[in-house]
Amino acid sequence: MRIKVVRLSHRLFRDQRITTHCALVSRAFGADGFVYSGERDTKLEATTRKVASNWGGRFSCEYADSYMRFIKAWKKNGGLVAHLTVYGLPVQKVAPKLRKLRKPLLLVVGGEKVPPEVYQAADWNVAVTGQPHSEVAALAMMLDRIFSGRELEKKFPKARLAIVPQERGKRVIRK
Ligand code: SAM
Repeated sequence: MRIKVVRLSHRLFRDQRITTHCALVSRAFGADGFVYSGERDTKLEATTRKVASNWGGRFSCEYADSYMRFIKAWKKNGGLVAHLTVYGLPVQKVAPKLRKLRKPLLLVVGGEKVPPEVYQAADWNVAVTGQPHSEVAALAMMLDRIFSGRELEKKFPKARLAIVPQERGKRVIRK
């Protein structure tokens, strides 16, 4: 299944680390691309692209001027939308439906304030527990539930760097 993640309302400096982590988690946990809106952040884009080029696989990182326009265009092109929010339906109830989808899925991760139109546009509003926590954790758990753990075995072709798992210590192969 093709999955993209969109992160809303990025703020330079305040959100740089957390939005970068959203992008890296999206890639590592099996999504195909990351989109963010809010303040343009060339450092975030460069970091994400550098990780993708060093560690392999295909992964896009794009900026969207308007997230609402992006979400509407995604739906118009036949895609579906799941918005991660503490107010949504439990992930354990929604994930089995998402797993069966045959259409591209957009996962929406909020920012400081998420307007009602995002909740309306979403095909599913999904909560990862009924407790407020972090966009990074919600995203990781959502992707893991959709892929049922198969993302843990994902291959990243054409990597320049690869880790050889060790019981202790570090081993990295440079190609
Ligand atoms: N107060 C903000 C709002 O109006 O939605 C939420 C801030 S929260 C730190 C940022 C994002 O993390 C949320 O928009 C949501 O995407 C995600 N998030 C936090 N807790 C969540 C949960 N329990 N389930 C799903 N997503 C969650």
